[in-house]
Amino acid sequence: MSLDATLTSLASLPKSDRMPVLFMGHGSPMNAIETNVWTDEWRQLGSELPVPTAVLCISAHWLTRGTAVTSMLHPRTIHDFQGFPRELFSIEYPAPGAPDIADATRSLISTTSVHADHDWGLDHGAWSVLRHMFPDASIPVVQASIDYHQPGSYHVAIGHQLRTLRDHGVLILGSGNLVHNLGMIAWDHIADPGYAYPWAEEANSMFKAQLVSRDIDRLTNVADFNAAQKLAVPTPDHYWPMLYALGATKADEEPQFFTDSAVGGSLTMTSVRWG
Ligand code: ZN
Repeated sequence: MSLDATLTSLASLPKSDRMPVLFMGHGSPMNAIETNVWTDEWRQLGSELPVPTAVLCISAHWLTRGTAVTSMLHPRTIHDFQGFPRELFSIEYPAPGAPDIADATRSLISTTSVHADHDWGLDHGAWSVLRHMFPDASIPVVQASIDYHQPGSYHVAIGHQLRTLRDHGVLILGSGNLVHNLGMIAWDHIADPGYAYPWAEEANSMFKAQLVSRDIDRLTNVADFNAAQKLAVPTPDHYWPMLYALGATKADEEPQFFTDSAVGGSLTMTSVRWG
């Protein structure tokens, strides 16, 4: 889109105080219907935040070639998982879409052309968290996809270009997990609160330290991760959403960590709020 179109898109959005930015560790889809230590915090967070004009969610579960933004008025609820109870498949999260926010999102991104999507909707990376944060589904939700074929620097750059949306009441929310190795889940410890392999603890601590020191080079260069971080991020799908959130922050915004605990040895629910 042209600069004129960008300015027109933004001018049509109301101004607001700057919204925080979130990265949420979403974990199992079952969190959508469970009440536990994490979902309690998600509900508390949703009730404490300034009410957003819309949520722009970057979910680990929408991986594409190229970048797309959902642009429909009524996004469907996508049940993108298998082998879970029937109850989970019956959940609907009928939040409206926000075509104006989608247009503004597309127009702000100049490093690639962004496709206006009318097929996707809300995947469980978005709704499993949002139905706790905003139970009445009244806040419009837009999703931006993750171009899975791009390096970390691409994802941070897109987040950076979207930071202006925060001044228009948009809550930018990355949804994934910092440590996410499903192949190594310790099923015999799945019910042990906080159980983590030493490498998972090490990687989680390293990510947090790098976020505190704002070491964006180390956080984006997945190929240079140490052994623990490589085990934590065997594939980058659940890690990339954090980079969008990080990109949308200001240099003087310090990360605040919450739901910072492990599950099943090889997964952490560590979440981050900036601003
Ligand atoms: Zn997931």
